[in-house]
Amino acid sequence: MSRDEIINPTPVEDDASYDDQIRPQRIDDFPGQESIKDKLRIAILAARQRNEPLDHLLLSGPPGLGKTTLARIIANEMGVDIKQSSGPVIERQADLSAILTSLENFDVLFIDEIHRLNHAVEETLYSAMEDFEVDIMLGKGPTARSMKIGLRPFTLIGATTRAGLLTPPLRARFGDTCRFEMYSPEELECIIIRSARILDVPIQQEGALEIAARSRGTARIANRLLRRVRDFAQVKGDGVITQELAEGALALLRIDELGLDDMDRQILEVLIDKFGGGPVGLASLAVAVGEERQTLEEVHEPFLIQIGFLKRTPQGRVATPHAFKHLDRTPPPSSGQGSLL
Ligand code: ADP
Repeated sequence: MSRDEIINPTPVEDDASYDDQIRPQRIDDFPGQESIKDKLRIAILAARQRNEPLDHLLLSGPPGLGKTTLARIIANEMGVDIKQSSGPVIERQADLSAILTSLENFDVLFIDEIHRLNHAVEETLYSAMEDFEVDIMLGKGPTARSMKIGLRPFTLIGATTRAGLLTPPLRARFGDTCRFEMYSPEELECIIIRSARILDVPIQQEGALEIAARSRGTARIANRLLRRVRDFAQVKGDGVITQELAEGALALLRIDELGLDDMDRQILEVLIDKFGGGPVGLASLAVAVGEERQTLEEVHEPFLIQIGFLKRTPQGRVATPHAFKHLDRTPPPSSGQGSLL
């Protein structure tokens, strides 16, 4: 049996149905992000008591921390429908107007990657958010004229992995911003045990903690690893996820004790072995490891920075002495220090 067959026996369900099964539906089922939940509970209750839509809300943070999930929960808690789209998909003003005019009272419009909206569409959003109206063009050419159309009051929830790229006028139109934090191993353990219970997978607490510790602070990764370890436990053991089985499965997946995968290690190796530990520009690093700049910046770097292996400096990326140590390399005397501002 090949390695792939061992970790990937016939899939029992596809990604989407797995996701739907374990996605929390209510605010109290959503472990972690306590400060965000505290303020949302109050905002939702207040809006419901006043019979008003919730204020427009911006959710920011790295991918996989639960922004989409929380947006759906907010709609559930408000008792309204949610329509979901994303910045790059809404290409024309007319596309946005069509979505906006289809919203019912107090509905939630969720726009993922909102920092990637084009300028014209973004401008249409301003009056929609502020005055609940949009300009619609009637006709074409010299006889074209615009007409204002009133919208039903709605809540825009924007999600972004790059809050810094939002234009000030768009940012100013949100009533509040929630910054998602990476999850602690204990919170991830709680997420894993909850998902295992829903999926009816027997798991020991030590097994859950082992997966949690290697999930890079990210709920999506914790759930994905749980799925892989479940397969391994089924094929190699009696189905129960113990610490030993979790360790075996994660070793097979080449995920180390810190949660670094092959690509993370490659980034650090290239940075250290090819560029002497940096500083090196993101574009050169991306070419050298054969990965998209955006993936490096939004998926790999946040965790490497969080665990203190990488620094972003004005001159470029720099590997820290911790990274040298983790890869068994000897840091140059001033490594990761001299070039930092
Ligand atoms: P984002 O929109 O931030 O990229 P998602 O909301 O799509 O993240 O979440 C990714 C996955 O992680 C989903 O399968 C979701 O069910 C799960 N997830 C996220 N946050 C939590 C949480 N706090 N508890 C349980 N599962 C979570």
